[in-house]
Amino acid sequence: MPADFRHLFGQLLQLPSVSSANTAIDMSNRPVVELLATVFTDLGFACELLPLPNQPHKANLIATFGSGPGGLVLAGHTDTVPFNAALWSVNPLAVTEKDGRLYGLGSSDMKGFFALVHAAVQPLLTQKFKAPLIILATADEESSMDGARALVQQGRALGRHAVIGEPTGLRPVNRHKGILMERLHVQGQSGHSSNPALGRNALEAMHDMIAALLQFRSTLQQRYRDPHFAIDVPTLNLGCIHGGDNPNRICGHCALEFDVRMLPGMQSREVRTDIRALLEPIAARHRVDFTFTPLFAGAEAFANDNGELLRVCEQLTGHSAQSVAFGTEAPFLQQLNMDTIVLGPGSIDVAHQPDEYMALDQVQPCISLLQSLIRRFCL
Ligand SMILES: [Zn+2]
Repeated sequence: MPADFRHLFGQLLQLPSVSSANTAIDMSNRPVVELLATVFTDLGFACELLPLPNQPHKANLIATFGSGPGGLVLAGHTDTVPFNAALWSVNPLAVTEKDGRLYGLGSSDMKGFFALVHAAVQPLLTQKFKAPLIILATADEESSMDGARALVQQGRALGRHAVIGEPTGLRPVNRHKGILMERLHVQGQSGHSSNPALGRNALEAMHDMIAALLQFRSTLQQRYRDPHFAIDVPTLNLGCIHGGDNPNRICGHCALEFDVRMLPGMQSREVRTDIRALLEPIAARHRVDFTFTPLFAGAEAFANDNGELLRVCEQLTGHSAQSVAFGTEAPFLQQLNMDTIVLGPGSIDVAHQPDEYMALDQVQPCISLLQSLIRRFCL
């Protein structure tokens, strides 16, 4: 293990950077990106901190070594999920080494990745770079994806190829589903149950809307199928419902929350437009109002079947690319014309859990793999 790897790994974990839609526990990622800017500037990288337009206390970092077209982007997020220290057997905001593992919040998902990148690049920087190497460290991946969203809005051209170091056990990943989480609220009018004409029943409207949603699910599942996924069709899950208050009162309002997991080829905008078009005539028929709103902006599906990077990663790791059940910033990087693959150290099984760790046996293979990628695309 390189001498300063363990030190930087610890420093990154010691700077809490929780992101959450719950503003009471949401934190800035600035200390993390500022530390990364310092250490990569010391190595000769040109570092730029880009504050998020809608949250200027958070920032993305772009650190560039070399110049020109092409090049390689090593990307990751600098935030973590919220944590409950009482459930951890070690301090989540420090690195604890035991049993061949480095424990701590963000060890695998994924601040630890930047310490590995830092270790990997150092022996190569004395060589002549034909194409740039870019370290991209984003904000807010775990909550809103606003960091990646801001990059797309700014239209920042980065390198041609991008590896996102999310924990995949060092196996290349070239597809994941997209996700929408939505809320449907139906507003009718309550009244005495003895006479249906005294109100407009939100629950009855919702009943028909749910039937339409389940029919829509069947249609989607006939239209889209991808055998690369364990669940090879899009899903739509009715998650929770609340409405009404009394058996003898006409139900005045009703709210449903559901998610949709989209296959590559589906776009969140289209899915939402289709759902809205299904709901409108039902609402009109029942003479109710409805609002259909996202619970978060949503994340698009990802697939990359053809890129040069895919072939190189499969060859270097000896593993065929696979799909995963979690979302990443890959669709955003693709929008910036990057040939993108997800490939990083550690295991997603321990991410978002107490006692998250990175196995030490991932460290040297990851450093070697990153060095091979840099040689292939930058030297
Ligand atoms: Zn992650």
